[in-house]
Amino acid sequence: MKLAQRGEFGIIAALRQRSAAAPGLITGIGDDCAVIAPQPGEQLLVTSDMLVEGVHFRWDWTDPVRLGRKCASVNLSDLAAMGATPRYLFLALALPGDLDTAILDAFFDGFLSVCGEHGAVLAGGDTCASSAGMTISVTALGSAATGTALLRSGAVAGDALFVSGSLGDSALALQQLLAGKRPESFLAQRHFDPTPRVNLGCALAQTGLATAMIDLSDGLLADLGHLLSASSVGARIEIETLPLSAAFRQALEQNQALIDLALSGGEDYELLFTAPAAAAALLADLAQKSATPITRIGTVLPLVNGLQLFANGQQRPLPAGQGYKHFAGGPESCILGNVCAVQEDAARR
Ligand SMILES: [Mg+2]
Repeated sequence: MKLAQRGEFGIIAALRQRSAAAPGLITGIGDDCAVIAPQPGEQLLVTSDMLVEGVHFRWDWTDPVRLGRKCASVNLSDLAAMGATPRYLFLALALPGDLDTAILDAFFDGFLSVCGEHGAVLAGGDTCASSAGMTISVTALGSAATGTALLRSGAVAGDALFVSGSLGDSALALQQLLAGKRPESFLAQRHFDPTPRVNLGCALAQTGLATAMIDLSDGLLADLGHLLSASSVGARIEIETLPLSAAFRQALEQNQALIDLALSGGEDYELLFTAPAAAAALLADLAQKSATPITRIGTVLPLVNGLQLFANGQQRPLPAGQGYKHFAGGPESCILGNVCAVQEDAARR
């Protein structure tokens, strides 16, 4: 069936049937607004992210289930970056009328599966017709105990710098796709179905171990730059300590220049955070409990030092064009990053 036959109300009715009840959600899908009752002692955190066909995804590379999963996951990653527990998601879709409803149903399958994995629910949204391609806008609300949300601005000189998971896998997959190759399954999964580090993010906020945090959507150096400028500090990164997957290391053996993907490639959706160096043992414990590897990659320095890269004790220059910038033009400015920083920042203030 084509979408035009099912219509907007058909879509909403189907989603309403699939949406679960949730604590604090007084009224969900089916009225003009969702009604949410914040719990005493909690703060709500709100983030938005948009994915546009041809800009953020291509149907010849991805499938609707993984696309739905990624749309939810990238928003949950922003909540994780501040230590918020995911609660309510809102989904706005602009859809071409000739879209097959089976594709839309598979997209919802993926989206709702990620919500379910993290105890969050779809609480509302909007659908409208698109004259070309599909546009997906997600708004996610999370909660955190008052005063525990982790900002980018708390790092101090002397803190250690840590990152979760591994770096560069998603960017390597993208590079292979752009070259017409099929990435192997681990790399493809890292690119098309990233894992938001929700458990780790919440644990870091609840324990108070971290001083500042951000998620990696635009690349390690770019996102580290955001954290450093928000905290008015510098940092030193030891390249040989960067956590790399077996698949990434294998590619790196063939081409040493690929290390730049771990430094500057986008869409890792890992957490980058700072903590006192003395917290390392407690952090190792927390990594085990949240089943998420944590690696120390450097040290926070006073602002005057700027951002320094070291490889085996030798300083090396920062790679040119680090990180991903929307509207920058060029062949890679289309299919890469996932976060419109302006929108994201506006939602946070
Ligand atoms: Mg972010």
